Amino acid sequence: MNEFIYNALPGRVVFGMGKIQSLAEEIDRLGCRRVMVVTTPDQSNQGEVVRELIGSRWAVNFNEARMHVPIDIVDRALDIATAAEVDCVVGIGGGSTIGLCKGLALRADLKIIAIPTTYAGSEMTPIWGMTENGIKTTGRDNRVLPSTVIYDPVLTLTLPSFVSGPSGMNAIAHCVEALYSPDANPVTSLIAEEGIRALSNSLVQVVNQANDCEARTEALYGANMAGSALAVAGVSLHHKLCHTLGGSFDLPHAEVHTIILPYATRYNTEAAPEAMLRICRAMGTEDAAQGLFELNRALGAKTGLKDIGFELSDIEKCAEIATQKPYPNPAPVTKDGIIQLLTQAYHGECP
Ligand code: NAD
Repeated sequence: MNEFIYNALPGRVVFGMGKIQSLAEEIDRLGCRRVMVVTTPDQSNQGEVVRELIGSRWAVNFNEARMHVPIDIVDRALDIATAAEVDCVVGIGGGSTIGLCKGLALRADLKIIAIPTTYAGSEMTPIWGMTENGIKTTGRDNRVLPSTVIYDPVLTLTLPSFVSGPSGMNAIAHCVEALYSPDANPVTSLIAEEGIRALSNSLVQVVNQANDCEARTEALYGANMAGSALAVAGVSLHHKLCHTLGGSFDLPHAEVHTIILPYATRYNTEAAPEAMLRICRAMGTEDAAQGLFELNRALGAKTGLKDIGFELSDIEKCAEIATQKPYPNPAPVTKDGIIQLLTQAYHGECP
């Protein structure tokens, strides 16, 4: 066995159908008294449900969470939280909502309880991101790690299938990259492989059978594995490329992950044989990149960058940005290699 270092992270996970009912108890457990409930405008009704559940612990609702955590929204939410003397933020929603809670915890001494309703995985990581003047800055800080995460699959029943599929592929991407990251260790690899198994086994059913609670439970469990692996092991080519495509070309986060994953996996196939073996075992496939591409198709997801507004003429520029700063990746990252990858991904060709 190779040597390894494993920096385990703290955190309490409460998982199961109907577990949102334990929220008040979890707030008390943290010794918190005044709660701000955070949602997007779309999920303000779920924010109202939370308000009812927590009774006298409720201080204020804030329902303006937005994609990429704009800094002016963090400022506004912080002013409201400070005026209401809040000591805990409860975020119910996807990565955007939990991202706003993290932005608040970075600036003030606040505990976070995260109630994820997508498969993005942010709730398990100490990674934050905020956007100012169109530039997204990210970092790692244990202050933004939620103290408690409540996973309640019932809350994902309202997630539309066109969001569920890409969101689940985003989670699988965390697992794939956790398998070949320089900070991978035997524990994160076990978690990542289990995440791929659970998600690939349940996502098609989640997308096709809106009311299948069993499939939704397995997918949410997979998302927990994916977030846990991402939190410790980190990322490589795939996430860097998606960050460039999302940040510099304003493409939708989960859809970009969905499209790029089979091609990034093909790029690393020869250089990361152990990771490929684990992906194949988890998915029951002979070829990892091909298996991921076929899963995308089975989900009815968009498979080409051309389908989400990316221009063929932007490939060169994207490859330029994505190769400006070196980062660890199993296969050497070259501009020509990235141009080839993006061209295939643009057309949605079989990887
Ligand atoms: P999102 O949070 O933007 O949610 C997409 C939309 O779906 C929103 O309008 C939301 O309100 C709605 N929605 C969510 N759950 C719903 C439900 N159950 N029913 C109905 N509507 C629902 O999307 P996301 O993919 O979860 O998160 C993407 C963001 O998270 C990106 O900005 C990404 O960078 C970030 N992210 C961060 C980390 C991290 O570790 N920091 C990890 C993954 C993703």
